[in-house]
Amino acid sequence: MTHAIRIHETGGPEKMVWEDIPLPSPKPGEALVRHKAVGLNFIDVYFRTGLYKAPSLPAIIGMEGAGIVEAIGDGVTEVAVGDRVAYATGPIGAYAEARCIKADRLVKLPDAISFEHGAAMMLQGMTAAFLVKKCYPVQAGQTVLVHAAAGGVGLIMCQWLKHLGATVIGVVSTEEKAALARAHGAAHALLTKDDVPARVKDITGGAMLPVVFDSVGRDSFNVSLDCLAPFGMMVSYGNASGPVAIPDLGILAAKGSLYVTRPTLATYTARREDLMDRANDLFAVAASGAVQIRVNQTFALRDAAEAHRALEARQTTGSTVLLP
Ligand code: NDP
Repeated sequence: MTHAIRIHETGGPEKMVWEDIPLPSPKPGEALVRHKAVGLNFIDVYFRTGLYKAPSLPAIIGMEGAGIVEAIGDGVTEVAVGDRVAYATGPIGAYAEARCIKADRLVKLPDAISFEHGAAMMLQGMTAAFLVKKCYPVQAGQTVLVHAAAGGVGLIMCQWLKHLGATVIGVVSTEEKAALARAHGAAHALLTKDDVPARVKDITGGAMLPVVFDSVGRDSFNVSLDCLAPFGMMVSYGNASGPVAIPDLGILAAKGSLYVTRPTLATYTARREDLMDRANDLFAVAASGAVQIRVNQTFALRDAAEAHRALEARQTTGSTVLLP
C-alpha cells in the first residue's frame, strides 16, 4: 500500500482526498518510483476541475515527480534500481508517495540537482525549453512578451529569454510580482491593469512584437494579438483564466496576417529523443546558472488542496513543490 491524493469526482480543491491505495509491481517497460518530491503545476488544476479529462475516476492527479527507482519491470533499459530520476510528461498519477510509470518517460537527474529542484523544474522548465527554442526559436535582439511572468513557467522564461539575448516584457498582476520578474531578467514589467498594447508600442517605438507567450488564455488573448507586429506569432500555451475559443480567423488577417499556435509539451516530448533534448537543454541552462529554479512554496503532499487554493488565488510565485 501507499498514500496518494485522489479525486473521486471533479470540482474544487476539497475534492482531493488523502487515501491508502494499493501499489502495483511494475509491468514490463515500467519502473516503480519512490517520490521524494512532486511538482505542482497549473495543469493539475485543470484535471481537478475537469477542464482536462482524467481517463477514469477515481484518479490520482499530478504530472511531475522526482525520486528513486525502487523496482523495474521486464525489458527496462532506460533506468536501473537506485537511480535518481524525474519526469513531467504524465500520465497523471504523481500525487502519490510512489507510482509505476513507463521507464521511457523517466530522465536521470544530474547529481547537482536536488529532488526538490527536479520536481520543480521538469515540467515548467521543459515547457520553457520547447517554447523558446522549438515552438518559436527566439533570436538575440528580439523583444518578446511573457504573461504570468512571475509564475513557475514565467520566471524560467524570463531568465532563459534574457540568456538568449532577448528583451523581455513581463506582464503580472501586482507590483511585487513585477519586481520579481525584473529580478529574473524582465527588462520591463507591466501590470495586467495597464494598457498593455499601448505600453508595448512605447517600448518598441511602434514596431510591436514578433511573438507573445500567453499562458493566461481567455482574459489575455485579445490583448496579446494587439501586441503583435504584422506576421507576429501568438503562442497560446495555457488557460489559467479559462480556455480560449477559436476566434473568427479573420481577426488574424485584420490584425496583420498573424499566426496562432496552441502548443503542448506532450507533442514536443512525444518521442524519447525529444524528451531527452528538452531535458538536456534545461539541465544545461540550470548547470550554467543562466536559469535558476525558484522553489518559493512547499507543502506536504497531503495538503495538496491548500497548494491548489494558493495557486488558483494567484498567491504563488515561481515553482511549488509537494513533499510526500
Ligand atoms: P503559474 O505559476 O504561472 O500560475 C498561474 C499564474 O497565471 C498566476 O500566478 C497568475 O499570475 C496568472 N493568472 C492570470 N489569470 C489567472 C486566473 N484567472 N487564475 C489564476 N491565475 C491567473 O502556473 P504554472 O507555471 O504551473 O503554469 C503557467 C501556465 O502555463 C498555465 O496556464 C499552464 O497551463 C501553462 N502550461 C502549459 C504547458 C503546455 O504544454 N502548453 C506546460 C506547462 C504549463 P498573475 O497574478 O501575475 O496574473
